[in-house]
Amino acid sequence: MKERIAAVDALVDNATCVISASDAAILEIVAKTVQSGVSATFYVSRSQASAINAWYWSPDRRRRLGLEEVPPEELTRIEQELGLVDVVHFSNRLPCEKCGHVYGAYEFLQQGLQGHGRATVEAVMAMKNASLVRVNPSEVPVCPNCGETIPPGESAAVRRPIDIHYYSGPGPYAGCCRPE
Ligand SMILES: [Zn+2]
Repeated sequence: MKERIAAVDALVDNATCVISASDAAILEIVAKTVQSGVSATFYVSRSQASAINAWYWSPDRRRRLGLEEVPPEELTRIEQELGLVDVVHFSNRLPCEKCGHVYGAYEFLQQGLQGHGRATVEAVMAMKNASLVRVNPSEVPVCPNCGETIPPGESAAVRRPIDIHYYSGPGPYAGCCRPE
Protein backbone atom coordinates (compact mmCIF):
# COMPACT_ATOMS: atom_id res chain seq x y z
CA MET A 1 0.00 0.00 0.00
CA LYS A 2 2.86 2.35 0.88
CA GLU A 3 4.49 1.85 -2.56
CA ARG A 4 1.12 2.24 -4.28
CA ILE A 5 0.52 5.61 -2.63
CA ALA A 6 4.06 6.72 -3.49
CA ALA A 7 3.41 5.76 -7.14
CA VAL A 8 0.17 7.76 -7.10
CA ASP A 9 1.98 10.73 -5.55
CA ALA A 10 4.52 10.65 -8.38
CA LEU A 11 1.76 10.70 -11.02
CA VAL A 12 -0.62 13.37 -9.79
CA ASP A 13 -0.14 16.87 -11.19
CA ASN A 14 -2.21 19.65 -12.74
CA ALA A 15 -3.50 17.51 -15.61
CA THR A 16 -3.65 14.09 -13.99
CA CYS A 17 -5.51 12.50 -11.11
CA VAL A 18 -5.71 8.85 -10.07
CA ILE A 19 -9.16 7.45 -9.31
CA SER A 20 -9.65 4.39 -7.16
CA ALA A 21 -13.08 2.76 -7.58
CA SER A 22 -14.77 -0.49 -8.58
CA ASP A 23 -14.68 -1.51 -12.27
CA ALA A 24 -18.41 -0.72 -12.52
CA ALA A 25 -17.87 2.76 -11.04
CA ILE A 26 -14.98 3.46 -13.43
CA LEU A 27 -17.11 2.43 -16.42
CA GLU A 28 -19.81 4.81 -15.15
CA ILE A 29 -17.31 7.69 -14.83
CA VAL A 30 -16.01 7.07 -18.37
CA ALA A 31 -19.58 6.85 -19.74
CA LYS A 32 -20.55 10.12 -18.05
CA THR A 33 -17.40 11.79 -19.42
CA VAL A 34 -18.27 10.59 -22.94
CA GLN A 35 -21.75 12.10 -22.65
CA SER A 36 -20.44 15.36 -21.15
CA GLY A 37 -18.36 16.12 -24.25
CA VAL A 38 -15.23 17.06 -22.29
CA SER A 39 -11.93 15.72 -23.57
CA ALA A 40 -9.99 13.33 -21.31
CA THR A 41 -7.56 10.41 -21.49
CA PHE A 42 -8.16 7.43 -19.21
CA TYR A 43 -5.47 4.89 -18.38
CA VAL A 44 -7.48 1.87 -17.27
CA SER A 45 -6.81 -1.83 -16.74
CA ARG A 46 -7.16 -4.20 -19.71
CA SER A 47 -10.36 -5.63 -18.25
CA GLN A 48 -11.78 -2.15 -17.67
CA ALA A 49 -10.88 -1.26 -21.29
CA SER A 50 -12.68 -4.40 -22.52
CA ALA A 51 -15.74 -3.43 -20.50
CA ILE A 52 -15.63 0.13 -21.92
CA ASN A 53 -15.29 -1.16 -25.51
CA ALA A 54 -18.07 -3.72 -24.98
CA TRP A 55 -20.34 -0.99 -23.63
CA TYR A 56 -19.42 1.63 -26.24
CA TRP A 57 -19.06 -0.49 -29.37
CA SER A 58 -22.45 -2.14 -29.45
CA PRO A 59 -23.17 -3.89 -32.78
CA ASP A 60 -25.69 -1.15 -33.52
CA ARG A 61 -23.17 1.65 -32.97
CA ARG A 62 -20.52 -0.15 -35.05
CA ARG A 63 -22.98 -0.28 -37.92
CA ARG A 64 -24.11 3.34 -37.55
CA LEU A 65 -20.56 4.73 -37.41
CA GLY A 66 -19.11 2.38 -40.03
CA LEU A 67 -16.57 0.70 -37.74
CA GLU A 68 -15.00 -2.21 -39.62
CA GLU A 69 -12.23 -4.68 -38.99
CA VAL A 70 -8.94 -3.41 -40.43
CA PRO A 71 -8.15 -5.79 -43.34
CA PRO A 72 -5.00 -7.97 -43.14
CA GLU A 73 -3.29 -6.15 -46.03
CA GLU A 74 -3.68 -2.80 -44.23
CA LEU A 75 -2.33 -4.30 -40.97
CA THR A 76 0.69 -5.56 -42.95
CA ARG A 77 1.21 -2.11 -44.47
CA ILE A 78 0.98 -0.51 -41.00
CA GLU A 79 3.61 -2.95 -39.74
CA GLN A 80 5.97 -2.62 -42.73
CA GLU A 81 5.72 1.12 -43.36
CA LEU A 82 4.96 2.52 -39.89
CA GLY A 83 6.60 -0.19 -37.76
CA LEU A 84 3.52 -0.61 -35.56
CA VAL A 85 2.03 -4.01 -34.69
CA ASP A 86 -1.38 -4.74 -33.20
CA VAL A 87 -2.34 -1.14 -32.47
CA VAL A 88 -5.73 -0.71 -34.10
CA HIS A 89 -8.03 -3.58 -35.09
CA PHE A 90 -11.18 -1.61 -35.95
CA SER A 91 -11.60 1.69 -37.78
CA ASN A 92 -14.06 3.56 -39.93
CA ARG A 93 -13.12 5.24 -43.22
CA LEU A 94 -13.61 8.86 -44.15
CA PRO A 95 -13.19 10.08 -47.74
CA CYS A 96 -11.35 13.39 -48.21
CA GLU A 97 -13.84 15.72 -49.88
CA LYS A 98 -11.06 17.58 -51.69
CA CYS A 99 -9.02 14.75 -53.26
CA GLY A 100 -10.96 11.55 -52.56
CA HIS A 101 -8.19 9.87 -50.54
CA VAL A 102 -9.72 7.60 -47.91
CA TYR A 103 -8.65 8.15 -44.28
CA GLY A 104 -8.59 4.98 -42.18
CA ALA A 105 -6.43 3.13 -39.67
CA TYR A 106 -3.16 3.59 -41.61
CA GLU A 107 -3.65 7.34 -42.03
CA PHE A 108 -4.71 7.72 -38.40
CA LEU A 109 -1.57 5.99 -37.10
CA GLN A 110 0.63 7.91 -39.53
CA GLN A 111 -0.84 11.19 -38.22
CA GLY A 112 -0.42 9.94 -34.62
CA LEU A 113 3.29 9.25 -35.20
CA GLN A 114 3.75 12.70 -36.75
CA GLY A 115 1.81 14.46 -33.99
CA HIS A 116 3.06 12.66 -30.88
CA GLY A 117 6.41 11.24 -32.02
CA ARG A 118 7.49 7.62 -32.27
CA ALA A 119 8.88 7.53 -28.70
CA THR A 120 5.49 8.41 -27.19
CA VAL A 121 3.57 5.98 -29.41
CA GLU A 122 6.04 3.19 -28.59
CA ALA A 123 5.87 3.98 -24.86
CA VAL A 124 2.09 3.56 -25.01
CA MET A 125 2.43 0.30 -26.93
CA ALA A 126 4.91 -0.98 -24.33
CA MET A 127 2.36 -0.68 -21.49
CA LYS A 128 1.82 -4.12 -19.95
CA ASN A 129 -1.15 -3.46 -17.63
CA ALA A 130 -2.79 -0.25 -18.75
CA SER A 131 -4.94 0.60 -21.75
CA LEU A 132 -5.31 4.14 -23.01
CA VAL A 133 -8.87 5.27 -23.76
CA ARG A 134 -9.39 8.62 -25.48
CA VAL A 135 -12.69 10.26 -24.61
CA ASN A 136 -13.77 13.05 -26.95
CA PRO A 137 -10.29 13.59 -28.43
CA SER A 138 -9.76 16.99 -30.04
CA GLU A 139 -7.53 15.85 -32.93
CA VAL A 140 -8.97 16.39 -36.39
CA PRO A 141 -8.13 13.97 -39.23
CA VAL A 142 -5.86 15.53 -41.85
CA CYS A 143 -5.67 14.05 -45.34
CA PRO A 144 -2.06 12.91 -45.92
CA ASN A 145 -2.52 13.32 -49.66
CA CYS A 146 -3.63 16.96 -49.91
CA GLY A 147 -3.36 18.33 -46.34
CA GLU A 148 -7.05 19.22 -46.07
CA THR A 149 -8.89 18.50 -42.81
CA ILE A 150 -11.62 15.87 -43.00
CA PRO A 151 -14.29 17.16 -43.36
CA PRO A 152 -12.80 20.34 -44.84
CA GLY A 153 -12.68 23.86 -43.48
CA GLU A 154 -15.28 25.30 -41.19
CA SER A 155 -17.52 22.25 -41.26
CA ALA A 156 -14.93 20.61 -38.99
CA ALA A 157 -16.31 22.70 -36.11
CA VAL A 158 -19.76 21.18 -36.43
CA ARG A 159 -18.84 17.65 -37.44
CA ARG A 160 -21.54 15.04 -37.49
CA PRO A 161 -20.82 11.69 -35.81
CA ILE A 162 -20.39 10.10 -39.22
CA ASP A 163 -17.65 12.65 -40.11
CA ILE A 164 -15.45 11.60 -37.19
CA HIS A 165 -12.69 9.01 -37.32
CA TYR A 166 -13.24 6.13 -34.87
CA TYR A 167 -10.89 3.35 -33.94
CA SER A 168 -10.40 0.65 -31.35
CA GLY A 169 -7.58 -1.69 -30.49
CA PRO A 170 -7.00 -4.86 -28.54
CA GLY A 171 -4.26 -3.90 -26.08
CA PRO A 172 -2.50 -0.80 -24.77
CA TYR A 173 -4.36 1.48 -27.18
CA ALA A 174 -8.03 0.78 -26.60
CA GLY A 175 -9.59 3.47 -28.77
CA CYS A 176 -11.88 6.46 -28.54
CA CYS A 177 -15.41 7.20 -27.40
CA ARG A 178 -17.63 10.16 -28.21
CA PRO A 179 -21.27 11.01 -27.66
CA GLU A 180 -23.63 10.64 -30.61
ZN1 LIG B 1 -7.23 14.95 -49.59
